[in-house]
Parts: sequence; C-alpha cells; structure tokens
Amino acid sequence: MEASHPVLIVENLSVSFETPDGIVHAVNDVSFVLHRGKTLGIVGESGSGKSVTASSLMRLNNSVTATTSGSVQVSGKDLMAASDDELRQIRGSEIAMVFQDPMSALNPYYTVGAQIAEAYEVHHPNASKSEVQMKVIDMMTKVGIPNPEQRSKDYPHQFSGGMRQRIVIAIALVNDPKILIADEPTTALDVTVQAQILDLMLSLQAENGMAILLITHDLGVIAEVARDVLVMYAGRVVEKADVEDLFEIPTHPYSWGLLGAVSSLDDSHRGQLKTIEGAPPSLLNLPTGCAFHPRCTYSSENNGQCETLVPSLMQKGPEHSSSACHLQSARVVQIGREVGK
Ligand code: SF4
Repeated sequence: MEASHPVLIVENLSVSFETPDGIVHAVNDVSFVLHRGKTLGIVGESGSGKSVTASSLMRLNNSVTATTSGSVQVSGKDLMAASDDELRQIRGSEIAMVFQDPMSALNPYYTVGAQIAEAYEVHHPNASKSEVQMKVIDMMTKVGIPNPEQRSKDYPHQFSGGMRQRIVIAIALVNDPKILIADEPTTALDVTVQAQILDLMLSLQAENGMAILLITHDLGVIAEVARDVLVMYAGRVVEKADVEDLFEIPTHPYSWGLLGAVSSLDDSHRGQLKTIEGAPPSLLNLPTGCAFHPRCTYSSENNGQCETLVPSLMQKGPEHSSSACHLQSARVVQIGREVGK
C-alpha cells in the first residue's frame, strides 16, 4: 500500500467576517488532509467558501474584521500560531499560491525576470547575482517560456495570458514549496491554454512531489487533475470523496446538481455550469438546517430534518466518500448510481 505523507492538515477551520450588514459565516468547520505529491480539488459555486478556505491557509484573511478558528498544520507547524516572521518564511518556501488573474499577481512596472528573482531572493538573501540569474532562467525554462534569457527582460504586458500564468507559476515555485494552492488558475484562460497550464502543473508536481490544492468551480478540471475532492456549499464541505467515486457514485444532492450541469456541457461551453435551480444563499443569512434545503428536490423526504438540523459528514456510499445529508444511505446510493457515470 502507498505510504501517505500529510503535508497539510486542516481541522475544524471556520472563518467569519464582520460587515456593516452583520456577520458573514464564510467557512464553517472545514477539515481535510493534503498528501505529498497528490492533488486535492475543492469545488463549488461562487460564495461556497472555497477561496476563503484557500486564503486562510496562507493567513491572508487577517483583517481586523475576520475571525478564524481551528487548526492548520503545515509540515508539522501550526500556521495559526506562527509569528509574522515565521509566516513570511512559510509563504513561498512551504506554501505558495497561484490566483486566477495573472495580471493582478504581476507588477506591470518590473520585468518578469526581476519578479522571479525577487521571489527567490526573499528566501535566499545571500545568493549571488549569477546564481539568481541562473535560477530565473531555469524556472522560465521549466514553465515552458521559449527563449528565456531574452524574455526575462520583458514586462508582463508583453506576454499572452497563458504565458503570464506560466510566469506566475514560476514565481510560486521558485523556492520549491511543498504545497501549491491554485485558486481558479485557468479560469481566465481559453480552453486550449487551460489544458496546457494544468498539464504544466501536473508535470512540475511529478518532478518535485509538491502537493496541490486546486480551487475551481469546474468539475471538468477536477476530473482531469485531482485525486480527492471536497464539494463545498455555503461555507461547508457537503461531500468528500475520491474523484472516481464522486463521478461514479456521488452522494450529495448538490453534487448531483453539479454533475448534471457538467454532463450537459460540450467543449465550447466547458466551465460554464448549467445553473442548479435557485441561487446560493446569502452567507449573512443562511437557511436553518441544511443550507441547501431551499434548492433541494429531496428535502421533503426526511421528516422535516432538512429544515431544522445541520447534517454532519458521514459515509453514505463508497468507503472513501462521505456526505452531509439526511437522506438514508440506500436512497443516496440508488440516486448516486443513476446520476454517476
Ligand atoms: Fe437535501 Fe436534506 Fe440532504 Fe440537505 S440534508 S441535501 S436538503 S436531502
């Protein structure tokens, strides 16, 4: 059996924000483990809490209005208890992040070479000029930028969107992090370039064994690259599964909706989910009980529990899958088999 090496352990993570309109419960009681060399996908519509979960892992939500609880351990270190100095060390060398929009991650006034160099120098302050230059060229080569020596002197606007995302990945990986958090890394790119960027991430993962946490609204992307998946809805994990299980026997009504949307897609519309009826709830005013109940076709089958009781994650179908739903296991598996493929 394959040995597992957890590099990130998240336990009972909750994040809320104070706003003038009230408290936004963005993430509620999220737990998961990410293993070395593996990819865990987090999928859900916008407002599901997936991006707040990701930024909490970098402690990027530390504004005065945010309250975070739970535990986040990175290679055995407690990120929640880390000092600002320790955090600076952890960011980049242990965990790095790639966002959706490469333009906002790059500084338009500096050459891309200077930006890769700067990221390297933060963690290698004594590196010589020639070592830094070699590292810049090496990273640009790794991420597939042709003619890297010349192109390192160019500015972000001189690159296409796909090439800019490659530069962002080079910056993220220049210090060989153990964990890469990729938040919708291909959403802004066209379909062919999306596939190239995903392939690039996977080949770099195969080379250095980093773990990837991939945040996306696109189940097609999950199917291509993830090994395990968390489905989030209204700030909670509603299903946790192996990717094969999620597609074969999904066990949560929200996942059934997402999968129904995916199967309706052709290539030209990939990534645009056919909407599940109704809209996600406001995180300021979550429905009682199961937050999905106003949109759920099965909420009348559970003697009123759906409207009053928050369901816990429990194994309902395949061994490595669990879902938060009041439906009986037999019913879940029966419908899951019909929806899965
Ligand atoms: Fe639907 Fe009830 Fe399950 Fe929520 S708990 S997903 S409302 S059946």
